[in-house]
Amino acid sequence: MGPPGSGKGTQAQIVAEDPDWVWLSTGELFRLHARIGSELGRLAATYLDKGEYVPDDVTVQMVRQRMHEIPKETRILFDGFPRTVAQAQALDELLAEAGRKVGAVVLLDVPRDELTRRLTERAKSESRSDDDPNVIATRYDVYMKQTAPLIEHYEKRKLLRRVDGRGSREKVGSRMNKALKGTG
Ligand code: AMP
Repeated sequence: MGPPGSGKGTQAQIVAEDPDWVWLSTGELFRLHARIGSELGRLAATYLDKGEYVPDDVTVQMVRQRMHEIPKETRILFDGFPRTVAQAQALDELLAEAGRKVGAVVLLDVPRDELTRRLTERAKSESRSDDDPNVIATRYDVYMKQTAPLIEHYEKRKLLRRVDGRGSREKVGSRMNKALKGTG
């Protein structure tokens, strides 16, 4: 987990270069559905474009479907999920059904001015409708309100590992790999 622009997608993809891991990004899945124009995609786009969260039931249902396609031995690196306390509870249930559990939660720590700078840069190279300056601000506020409470939730369960998300892709990548060593 981490605020928008903290490098979740970039780092998750580095970890998932290892075939023991599979990357599961709810944001990517929503964008994929939006591109193919499925019903779910059309619904999700109305939230993504505003920087708001897609409703929990819709999100959890999509994750459930995706999880069914992943072999039980493969470790899943969730990126951008769970984002609410309700999703964290749903995740525990989904994992329990599959005889799995959360091994660790990595929080990518990046100061706010750096986040804004990165997202503004990304707006020039990728065409994400939610990298518009107004939407960036909303996404940060939504994160603080709805997702930041998960930090304490996972800290209490001794699952949280903070990773300094400043610096190059490679530097952060090696901190990530260290943080994930020895996780269940
Ligand atoms: P991301 O690619 O993780 O930055 O996600 C992009 C957008 O997808 C978010 O701003 C939300 O609108 C939506 N989204 C992604 N993951 C979730 C989630 N777990 N719950 C609700 N909405 C999500």
